[in-house]
Amino acid sequence: MAGNGTPDLRCPLCTGEGGTLLARTRNWHVVLAAEHDYPAFTRVIWNAHVAEMSELGAADRDELMRVVLAVEQTQRAVLAPDKVNLASFGNVVPHLHWHVIPRWRDDRHFPEPVWGRAADGRDVAVEARRAWVAARLPSYLEALVRGVNRLLAPGA
Ligand SMILES: [Zn+2]
Repeated sequence: MAGNGTPDLRCPLCTGEGGTLLARTRNWHVVLAAEHDYPAFTRVIWNAHVAEMSELGAADRDELMRVVLAVEQTQRAVLAPDKVNLASFGNVVPHLHWHVIPRWRDDRHFPEPVWGRAADGRDVAVEARRAWVAARLPSYLEALVRGVNRLLAPGA
């Protein structure tokens, strides 16, 4: 299952961006996922086709985690979520990527993972929350691009 860094033409993350591209470097890129109930759902994707964190060297691992944490910090600063969920599965797409998902007690699935069972009787609150996040999306994206670019600055 482990990748060797060689692009896999059957892999959606080798052949596509995996979302709306926000930032890209030689090693990784950041995209906004298209998840209706979670407008700020963000992914950090390692560019090379590897499956596991332990396939990366220490410096690459650190670099990837710095980006994930920059996304988390931006979500906390701009969106003030009740919780940030970090997840790396790759069961369906075994190409290393992290999901960074701001969560609120009144979102569709809380306290379940966003892939879990939806909460009952929450449609009005869910739509209000979705609209609240969507309204802040431009500020979030601006801060995210700024935060990620700061990582690329010399001495970062
Ligand atoms: Zn891939």
